[in-house]
Amino acid sequence: MEVRDRILIVEDDASIRNFLRAILEANHYEVILSATGAEAYSLITSRCPDLVILDLGLPDLDGMTILKRVREWTGMPIVVVSARDHERDKVDALDQGADDYITKPFGPSELLARIRTAIRHYRAAGSAEGTRSGVFRAGGLVVDYDKHRAYVDGRDANLTQNEFRLVALLAKYAGKVMTYDFLIREIWGPNMENNNRILRVNMANIRRKVEENPAQPRYIFTEIGVGYRMVEPD
Ligand code: CA
Repeated sequence: MEVRDRILIVEDDASIRNFLRAILEANHYEVILSATGAEAYSLITSRCPDLVILDLGLPDLDGMTILKRVREWTGMPIVVVSARDHERDKVDALDQGADDYITKPFGPSELLARIRTAIRHYRAAGSAEGTRSGVFRAGGLVVDYDKHRAYVDGRDANLTQNEFRLVALLAKYAGKVMTYDFLIREIWGPNMENNNRILRVNMANIRRKVEENPAQPRYIFTEIGVGYRMVEPD
């Protein structure tokens, strides 16, 4: 018998909850539902879902409170649902250990991609993918972790060392959004924190070298006010 991934949907809005359930059941996920934070927390501990979709605005507990509590004892994948234009909420949720977020209103393909990515990264943690050896491929983009080179349509993109490290980091977490602060800390260290300019300059150079049309990127997307996301691998 096929083992289906079990997803807990925590959402107080019944129409969104039913919309989520319909999409997930049509895609062969097992679904459990909760409309309140307290019930969600008890379901997380008793039913051990493979992933949690967590609305931040709940009637009883703030979604962020649940996120913090769950992160005290498990790294289970959590995708936060947030309202449009709440960039600060998204960054806070990612800082508190959310794996990703999705912005209302969203479509089925975006939702399913976020879920697949979060589950894949969770299961790959500690395995070969985590060591960043081998090669990342997405369309015409190839990132060779061992040779420290990136290629586009077979040509060397001639990235500088820091540009390559940025691309490799985004590729390692492909499909997930990486916040500005996380990227800056990883590449330049803690003393450069809150200096987004150096990151923006590097990203602009990377886009010029990697994207055919930097204004309409195919590989590295901007998440406005939050960070950057590499396209999912082939
Ligand atoms: Ca809500």
